[in-house]
Amino acid sequence: MTLPKTTAELRALDAAHHLHPFSDTKALNEEGSRIIVKADGVWLTDSDGNRILDGMSGLWCVNVGYGREEIVEAVATQMRELPYYNTFFKTTHKPAIELAARLAELTPPQFNRVFFTGSGSESNDTVIKLVRRYFDIKEQPKKKIIISRRNAYHGSTVAAGSLGGMSPMHDQSAVIADVVHIAQPYFWGEARQGETPDEFGLRTARALESTIDALGEDRIAAFIAEPIQGAGGVIVPPASYWPEIARICRERDILFISDEVICGFGRTGSWFGCETFGTEPDILVMAKGITSGYMPLGGVMVADRVVDVLLQGGDFNHGYTYSGHPAACAAALANLDIMLREKLVERVANDVGPYLKAQWSTLAEHPLVGEAPMMGLVGALELTPDKIGRTKFADVGKVGTMARDFSFQNNLVMRAVRDRLIIAPPLVISHGEIDELVARARK
Ligand code: PLP
Repeated sequence: MTLPKTTAELRALDAAHHLHPFSDTKALNEEGSRIIVKADGVWLTDSDGNRILDGMSGLWCVNVGYGREEIVEAVATQMRELPYYNTFFKTTHKPAIELAARLAELTPPQFNRVFFTGSGSESNDTVIKLVRRYFDIKEQPKKKIIISRRNAYHGSTVAAGSLGGMSPMHDQSAVIADVVHIAQPYFWGEARQGETPDEFGLRTARALESTIDALGEDRIAAFIAEPIQGAGGVIVPPASYWPEIARICRERDILFISDEVICGFGRTGSWFGCETFGTEPDILVMAKGITSGYMPLGGVMVADRVVDVLLQGGDFNHGYTYSGHPAACAAALANLDIMLREKLVERVANDVGPYLKAQWSTLAEHPLVGEAPMMGLVGALELTPDKIGRTKFADVGKVGTMARDFSFQNNLVMRAVRDRLIIAPPLVISHGEIDELVARARK
């Protein structure tokens, strides 16, 4: 078959054969998908030649920006030498060895071992098994429940989707047992009248403690959360939230899992979001920014005290064909080289992060904007018909979707979560590009 050339022909082919993720494919086919053909820096180009500012780093992943020849070369070289081998059954390979050691250096000191996967969802499936295995080996088999948060997103496999707190996903699929969801620290949307951010942060964090008490500490295995909830709406918690959660996790016999699939690799202005908020997780979940999306790869870092127990348990009956794929590990190593050489994490903390925050916060003055949080290079705009009374639009999500679609027509990619617009641009974005991004968002 020869591939048709015009946009209309390509769209027709897509409509005939492609079921799109998280989409109403029928509606999409009537409208026609936009076909992205190339990209450079923070800019995408579509099949009609439009240049689109990618305010979302793809799906929160292209941290070093598009068009990095160095990653392309590293992958090509690795593919010529060893395109595939696995890390099961007494074998390994150099890219996996080197990347595992590099991640031990980059992550907080309690982490020295990684379990490789192919994605964030696979990583969180791995976490469920690891956590349960840990307590089985410790002869506490009743400890099975994982506490998560409403509107959390931890992936879309059956298990990771159950761990997440998105009811539209639960409604369409079986959910696994022993996952319980508590409130998210969404001050703007869920605080009581007159409650300060710190009071709200403490109250929301203490839902963890009361849930442990209600269900019994002997049944709770772990708490999982993103440092900043991403797909749930870029929920930046009040300052009191994380210290209180950290206290509860320390005092109770539960593991703390930080899902850093979005917040990892510089997004919040530290290498990992747990460092930004001063927490000390036992398990750290990664994907996306580990390769800047150039190749699919995920990983689960496990703290030494957990590893010490797991190593007593013999075989761990779990793994993926592509766990630690050599070409993906090579992409990750080249990606990390770029991040270190160009000091991209420091750039987010000291330069582009504060610059974007200053520009972005001016949008909070707009009559339709309830709040405009920004931390590092991830932020949101809460759209509301009444910013004083903090009310929501009657048809939740409609205005957000319209605004997102208008923005996309205007060649800025933002995401809509209900009526919150989200941005998370590549860490290499320039001041001029930030000005352009904010101008398009304002429009
Ligand atoms: N965890 C978080 C926090 C995410 O945001 C995502 C994806 O957006 C995932 C897990 C799932 O990752 P993947 O899509 O690579 O399976």
